[in-house]
Amino acid sequence: MKTSQSLVITSPYTISSKSTAIKSKVAEGCARIRIELGGICGSDLSVYKGSLSHANYPVVMGHELYGTVFEGDASGLFPHGQKVVVQPNLSCGECDLCLKGKKNICRHKQTLGVTQDGGFTTFIDVPITNLIPIPDEMDGKLAVLIEPLAVIVHAFRNVSIEVGDTVAVIGCGTEGMLSSILAQLLGAEVTAVDISQDKLGLMKGYEGIETGLPDILTEEYDHVVEAAGVPKAIEQSFEVVKPGGNILAIGITGESVNFNANKIVRSEVSVFGSIIYDFPDDFDQALQFLKKYPDQFARVVSKVYPFSDYESAFETAISGKVAKVLLDFKEGQM
Ligand SMILES: [Zn+2]
Ligand SMILES: [Zn+2]
Repeated sequence: MKTSQSLVITSPYTISSKSTAIKSKVAEGCARIRIELGGICGSDLSVYKGSLSHANYPVVMGHELYGTVFEGDASGLFPHGQKVVVQPNLSCGECDLCLKGKKNICRHKQTLGVTQDGGFTTFIDVPITNLIPIPDEMDGKLAVLIEPLAVIVHAFRNVSIEVGDTVAVIGCGTEGMLSSILAQLLGAEVTAVDISQDKLGLMKGYEGIETGLPDILTEEYDHVVEAAGVPKAIEQSFEVVKPGGNILAIGITGESVNFNANKIVRSEVSVFGSIIYDFPDDFDQALQFLKKYPDQFARVVSKVYPFSDYESAFETAISGKVAKVLLDFKEGQM
């Protein structure tokens, strides 16, 4: 019998590789995907540390997924061998928000690797409505960035970033890096800050992007991207945004934040919270950017570990010293 090797978290900080039998029939409306690469995301680390309250344990981890179709569905839209990236959020399609087209904030949203079994596994059945085809010639290491980049594409749709606009990015984790790169590609003058020298080091290779500790933000910026998800960074966003400017809030924190509400009223600052993406539009757009500017984005991937070395991969990812860490599932596959 064919088996799938999965990375299971049973409780915070307890992960192990488990072998499970694969069902003989592919689930209804799904294609069976052989996962090749998986990206470790901040939310995976939150599940790992036990700081994501809606996570279920035990669960197979992983939602940033690139692979190939092993067995397609009846529609023939995703034939065997087709390269794909997975949209890992499942919306109910029936709640008031879904009916309004806001599937990303569905009241009953399920997320692979968080609330239900995810894709750090050899084989996974995914609804074909959650797949996007990837051109054969595209490097899988770039393709796996489609999901995290789609988050930024979605956030940026709230504003119009014009050539010459100034953009401050607070927080230089993967999403902060992707925001900085995308804003620069759109013609903005970008300043990216972080409290971690390691993270700032990752940004150093990007010519034209000014980087430094948060106190280098001494001007007012047309757009501020808050990608740190800590109260201090959110507060700083309000301090450094230009009157009439925009704050794009993509960092996640459950903590309370102090800011002067007059920034919103008297200075007409707009605050756009943004979570995940619209599918397939934001994935398509992210794919186009990655195709057009592969070199800029390739450096967001810091390290690739074979699946068998998942412990080192998580250790490296959790160190906060690197950008995107990938797991390679191809090694040792039958
Ligand atoms: Zn993610
Ligand atoms: Zn819904």
